[in-house]
Amino acid sequence: MKPSATTSRREFLKLSALSATVLSVNSVSAFPLTKTNKPIVVSTWRNPDANAAAWKVVAANGRALDAVEQGARVPEANPKDTSVGYGGLPDRDGCVTLDACIMDEKSNCGAVAFVQGYKHPISIARAVMEKTPHVMLVGKGAEQFAASQGFKKENLLTRESEKAWKEWLKKSEYKPYHNPGQHDTIGILALDANGKLCGACTTSGMAFKMHGRVGDSPIIGAGLYVDGEVGAATATGVGEEMIRIAGSNSIVELMRQGLTPQAACEEAIKRLIRKRGEEKAKELSVAFLALSVNGEVGAYSTNDVFEYTLTTPDQMHSVIRSESYF
Ligand code: ASP
Repeated sequence: MKPSATTSRREFLKLSALSATVLSVNSVSAFPLTKTNKPIVVSTWRNPDANAAAWKVVAANGRALDAVEQGARVPEANPKDTSVGYGGLPDRDGCVTLDACIMDEKSNCGAVAFVQGYKHPISIARAVMEKTPHVMLVGKGAEQFAASQGFKKENLLTRESEKAWKEWLKKSEYKPYHNPGQHDTIGILALDANGKLCGACTTSGMAFKMHGRVGDSPIIGAGLYVDGEVGAATATGVGEEMIRIAGSNSIVELMRQGLTPQAACEEAIKRLIRKRGEEKAKELSVAFLALSVNGEVGAYSTNDVFEYTLTTPDQMHSVIRSESYF
């Protein structure tokens, strides 16, 4: 069955009734599997520089964990990327607050949320994973931990982002839509030459959110999930929606039952749309990206704006348009 925005509900229900084995045979992948494709790096949106940094690691036989961290650090340091790290658009009080998480093939994970003044939350998240008995630190506690680990405190609000915030203040209207020009959260997944699968996700969250709001991106199971025996998934878009359906974890569980990454991403989006209703869901930009442990990729979004960046030995940082429901 071809993944398409025109797949009818009846076709979908019919499909759901089939066994998992039949599903995996019939589902068409955006990136068909002929053999195990590795190494491989995929990231949300147009992120060739991030993929290049990750690729440098896996192409040299390095660890997928280092690859995803290095990849995520690229948009975190880029002031022109207004949804991640330095230069991220602030909340409605003018504060840049960052969220990130990282997960390895054994489901070790670390996360930070509501962190201010540190450009590389992904590296702080990795330090939480490797150097503390905890999975997640937030706010002041995360900042104290970052300082104790030698991370440098700096101002992350660029003049451009401050200007955008002051402009926003004139009307102070918060619409949790996705502005296609301003993307976005980076979720990055890598399978290294040794078959180890890891993922990272980092964001400044929804622009002009309430102070203290945390989205899906640092939440293990919502913005990112990795099971080294099955696959990995990550998300971008209106985070509240991903949290509601434990999106990334759901996709990995669907893959465990035999769905391809493509079919699993489609089912997660359709699940979300069934809960929200089509009218409401049309306003919500949500996208998922998944990678199986065999190196098969899937992607699907609510509306027609999502693209992802794929790097394999044969495709250097190709930007691919995702299929969408609407
Ligand atoms: N998922 C992010 C959040 O809700 C935002 C985004 O991807 O643009 O914080």
